[in-house]
Amino acid sequence: MPPAKTVRVDLGARSYDVRVGAGLLEDLGATVAAIGEVRQAVVVSDTTVAELYGRGAMDSLAAAGLEAALIDFPAGEDHKTLATAGELYDKLFGVEPAIDRNCLIVAMGGGVPGDMAGFIAATALRGLRWLQCPTTLLADVDASAGGKTGVDHAAGKNLIGAFHQPRGVLIDVETLKTLAAEELRSGLAECVKHAVIRDAKLLDFIEENAEAILACQADVMIDLIVRNVEIKAAVVAADERESGQRSHLNFGHTVGHAVETFVGYGKITHGQAVALGMIAACHIATGKGLLDASLQTRLEALLERLGLAVRRQGLDADEIWRIMQHDKKARGGRLRFVLPTALGAVNLFDDVTRDEAKQAVEALA
Ligand code: NAD
Repeated sequence: MPPAKTVRVDLGARSYDVRVGAGLLEDLGATVAAIGEVRQAVVVSDTTVAELYGRGAMDSLAAAGLEAALIDFPAGEDHKTLATAGELYDKLFGVEPAIDRNCLIVAMGGGVPGDMAGFIAATALRGLRWLQCPTTLLADVDASAGGKTGVDHAAGKNLIGAFHQPRGVLIDVETLKTLAAEELRSGLAECVKHAVIRDAKLLDFIEENAEAILACQADVMIDLIVRNVEIKAAVVAADERESGQRSHLNFGHTVGHAVETFVGYGKITHGQAVALGMIAACHIATGKGLLDASLQTRLEALLERLGLAVRRQGLDADEIWRIMQHDKKARGGRLRFVLPTALGAVNLFDDVTRDEAKQAVEALA
């Protein structure tokens, strides 16, 4: 087994460690017990992940002398709602023995159970401690540092929620072996995003290790995830509440989110939509004279090697522009693009014109 590695998320009194290794779920009970003053742990997961890893998690918690329960909900973004949260509160308050403030919530699963469990932890009994056990690459690299929790609303994604930092994060890279290939690729798009906004060497690493990454080779996955969590943790530590540089993480997301909405949630993965959004953002940056065209060429080659499409037929540029305007209103903000100015550097631009954005979407055909 390759050795586990740790990244510190530095947030003063709310700091915590992200541990990344192979087989770490076996340490779940010991990790929870080490947090201190925990009598009971309630694992919140989706039915798919609960089926795969629930038994092991419960055994590990019980072996550490903790009262343990598991509550779950059907998998998928469609269930990341207040209605599901309501059902989970019913289950949580029905757990025997009854929960109190010494109960810790364990979020186990991808970003959906992570956001949901974190939201339950932020709100039940006015806030319970929680530990995150992400099981998708997307959640490993994007959701494990930052403490964003929440649910969707009919008016938009993630509109209801809270910042609530976990007490720790346990990433077991072995869980990635059961993940569907397209979900792995979705997470890889976020890794490429981190490289473009902050770290040219990470892009080299992904290029050099693409095959090992696609095969989920444990030592390479540990290094990949650690580097990504370091980048995310540094951004979050500098800007916990997303007033400035945390928005750099939205590179590829302005067009990406709109593509996701246009195509329909569930019909395209988030990462695939972000991959297209990154190409569109490079196109806009190159057109504005901010960026050399070679970065777009390099990114397209890498994304394709990772199994992510860099072209998509049938995107309606007018409709995508309209969705971007609507997203902007729903979030009460300006239409802001994160554009690369070099490999490893991005900036915010709110002067992207309708024509520039439409041309970039049309170029994806
Ligand atoms: P997800 O949680 O729905 O997982 C995708 C699918 O993979 C699900 O069907 C799930 O059951 C399955 N799955 C998960 N782990 C598995 C495993 N190890 N083996 C087999 N199957 C497994 O989706 P996601 O892509 O992980 O996350 C997307 C969500 O994350 C979105 O709701 C997004 O808003 C949220 N998110 C949150 C943050 C944050 O900072 N809080 C960051 C990024 C994304």
